[in-house]
Amino acid sequence: MRVAVVGAGITGLFAAYYLEREGAEVTVFDERAPGDRSVHAAGILEATQAYRTNTFAFLRRVFRLWRHRTCAFRSVDGRWLLESARRLDRPPEPGSERRLLELGSASLAAYAALARARDDFGFSVRGLTEVYEDPVHFRHERAVALARRAAAPVEVREDPGGGGTMFFPEVGWLHTERFVARMLRELGSVRFVRARAAHLALDGTVTGAPGPERFDAIVACTGVSSRSLGVPLTGVKGYGWHLRVRAPVPVATIHVDRGVALVPLDDGLKATGGWDFDLSSTVARASTVLAQVRGLTEVLEVLDFNHGIRPTTPDGLPTVGRKGNVVVANGGFRLGWSFAPGMGQEAARLALGRGENDPFLARFCGRLRSGALR
Ligand SMILES: Cc1cc2nc3c(=O)[nH]c(=O)nc-3n(C[C@H](O)[C@H](O)[C@H](O)COP(=O)(O)OP(=O)(O)OC[C@H]3O[C@@H](n4cnc5c(N)ncnc54)[C@H](O)[C@@H]3O)c2cc1C
Repeated sequence: MRVAVVGAGITGLFAAYYLEREGAEVTVFDERAPGDRSVHAAGILEATQAYRTNTFAFLRRVFRLWRHRTCAFRSVDGRWLLESARRLDRPPEPGSERRLLELGSASLAAYAALARARDDFGFSVRGLTEVYEDPVHFRHERAVALARRAAAPVEVREDPGGGGTMFFPEVGWLHTERFVARMLRELGSVRFVRARAAHLALDGTVTGAPGPERFDAIVACTGVSSRSLGVPLTGVKGYGWHLRVRAPVPVATIHVDRGVALVPLDDGLKATGGWDFDLSSTVARASTVLAQVRGLTEVLEVLDFNHGIRPTTPDGLPTVGRKGNVVVANGGFRLGWSFAPGMGQEAARLALGRGENDPFLARFCGRLRSGALR
């Protein structure tokens, strides 16, 4: 069976991985180097979390980030906005919590299995500290975390000022660049075509620089550009740096009210931030976000910089579904790395024709259509 994977971000790489393991003949299309738009991420692996965007709590979080200048509003997709408004404060779909836990746990297990075979990507499960400065925000998130502690164990510490920290011991992290390099070693028999796909058709035809080519199935993992295939998506841009710092953090730490994550790696500190609702390719705001990072840790040297876009559905949760010969796997949002193995596995299952769409995961794929990718 011949399958095209369009988009070599972390989702596409995992889709290719599972397809290859099942014996498919896989071609991956991307005009960028594999992983180029995913490696900016902090690489924190949160198997038991889900970040819904269609809630008032999320709107308040965005407002706090805007006050700290880590969030900006530049452009959003119109259909995404409409669908988000329609879903605002709607209760989660029945069964969604269980399905997301399965997806996250299977994903963490997949990273752990790859690390057991050979840990050449700095995998570790040493926990995540979340720091809250705003007492109201802390009280709200503490109540949510304590209600979920059977699924996601947590240790809570209150600060005298009213804020506090929460420590999630089962969270892991990895070195994103090294992980992409590992995936490329795993994908030995995959054909990589360094070209943009201009058009995807439901009959399985990919039209790109090398000309039209017909496949038995296409897996589209093209981030926000999949919105022209009828999937409501917008992009929340963010930035990532490797830094040399005076005092590295002991474990992965998210300063939630500032929207900044810090991850200790053996070659420096990974710092990420930025919640810019922005579909453009500019990175002009990166320096504003780096100033937030500098306020938290003394930076001795900036070693490198990258950026990417969190592909975001109207509820902020992933979507994977098939129509005709096209499967879409998208919407990883803030947890794209945490869900990518599970999303890739589900996309491979559907592309290989093994069973039907999962009703929850496929909820945004009903209007999937042929289209030119923007
Ligand atoms: C600052 C920041 C920090 C983050 N930290 C974390 C974290 O700690 N943990 C976590 O789980 N997640 C994190 N995320 C989220 C995660 O990085 C994203 O959800 C994830 O990268 C999305 O991956 P993707 O493969 O779906 O899409 P992308 O990474 O956007 O990849 C899409 C790919 O498709 C290609 N493409 C697009 N159009 C075409 C076309 N027409 N033809 C061919 N190819 C095309 C692009 O070139 C790109 O390579 C973070 C995000 C940001 C912004």
